Amino acid sequence: MNLTEQVLKTRTSLHGDPALHKLDRQYLWHPFTQMDEWQQEEPLVIEKGEGPFLYDTDSHRYIDAVSSIWCTVHGHNHPYIVSAMIEQLTKSVHTTLLGLSNPPAIQLAEKLISCAPKGLKRVFYSDSGAAAVEVALKMAVQYWYLKGEKRTEFLRLQESYHGDTFGSMSVGYSETFHKPFQEMLFQTHTIPSPYFLKREKNLTEEEAEKESLAQTRTLLESHGAATAACIVEPLIQGAAGIIPHSPRYLKALYELVKSYHLLFIADEVAVGFGRTGTLFAVEQAEISPDLLCLGKALSGGYLPLSATLVTEQIFEAFCAPFEEFKQFFHGHTFSGNPLACAAGIASLEIFKKENTLKRLSPKLELFWSFLKEKIEPLENVIEVRGRGFFAGIEIGKTKQENFPVEFRAGKKIMMAARKQGIIFRPLLDTLVLAPPLNIQEGILKELLNGILNSIQDGLR
Ligand SMILES: *Cc1c(COP(=O)(O)O)cnc(C)c1O
Repeated sequence: MNLTEQVLKTRTSLHGDPALHKLDRQYLWHPFTQMDEWQQEEPLVIEKGEGPFLYDTDSHRYIDAVSSIWCTVHGHNHPYIVSAMIEQLTKSVHTTLLGLSNPPAIQLAEKLISCAPKGLKRVFYSDSGAAAVEVALKMAVQYWYLKGEKRTEFLRLQESYHGDTFGSMSVGYSETFHKPFQEMLFQTHTIPSPYFLKREKNLTEEEAEKESLAQTRTLLESHGAATAACIVEPLIQGAAGIIPHSPRYLKALYELVKSYHLLFIADEVAVGFGRTGTLFAVEQAEISPDLLCLGKALSGGYLPLSATLVTEQIFEAFCAPFEEFKQFFHGHTFSGNPLACAAGIASLEIFKKENTLKRLSPKLELFWSFLKEKIEPLENVIEVRGRGFFAGIEIGKTKQENFPVEFRAGKKIMMAARKQGIIFRPLLDTLVLAPPLNIQEGILKELLNGILNSIQDGLR
């Protein structure tokens, strides 16, 4: 460090970079953020990422406990992904997939199909999870249309989240988020979640699953013929607050839906690529969806890239002479972007090269025994839930009762965690942990102890 750099560093080290803070407040509108509150606080500005760590503009180190919103499965700036990207940069940054192809898009598609659940044969690229879901919904409706059936409704699970575009809002309707748009959204039928049935009606897990399935059957009886597909986030509903269901339930739901001849869409935007312990969550239920949505970690979490994988049966329905106009009229400027696909190929190769999933199991044991033995017994913890490296810690005033929303328990603990060198983003009062899959055991322990301390410090 030269003298100027040193002076600059000492000058900014107490309060971050005030000039950047001012510009942030002046020009940015942050996603899912109450900007009125944001503007009264000091933003945390991240300048660098390396492995499981993030560094702010003052070079303070933080553990990224949520993999930058469930994306960076191999940590930040993994040298293997970065070098694959640099190599691609010397060739092209972007060329279109409309009427042209490019090697990384082709090779990633082949790799995805070779590891995806059997039956999935074609890859349609987009650039966000929401777009991958839109594509799945549109493909499902057009599939039936091409078959001469009008099916424009969808089945979806209570509290589901599938993205923020109109179609994905329709299948992820939430009163709090989407009230202003309610009349503009299309018809869906909501399957009661076994998790909430169990919790609200005090049922056993089996009873709750049975009741959910019975109600699904009733929905299918009355609306099945007008319904194109059932869409589900397999095993964990992320944005709902890390809400789990069992592989047994997922399998039973799939079989029920298929017995009424609907299409089944698995939205693995959040859970895909190892998050729940297997490469894809549906593997644990031994089911193979008709459509599979991927996003977040698809590029290793480094660039915007998503995909909708479909069966040959769906693909073929769209194949006809040009003049019949049966093709799928949908595309995005950056569909199959070669740089993002190069990152995606490298990310999949790392799973093999580093044996990521096999090396995860001892860490899962450590993670869940700490959460169950040290965190769940705390008086301010209602419940710890989740699967794999995807956990929700629900904070409460007591073991049974949530804090009032305005108390901001989740946020208080998030701020306390920052002092411990840990970054996560809660979902209301549920703390979310989704560490990179390759986090070292020592760092994982540091993370868990830090969370334990922050729950106590944050509520003090
Ligand atoms: C994040 C998420 C989406 C939306 O992905 P974006 O890239 O943010 O549009 C869709 N479905 C699920 C399950 C998600 O977690």
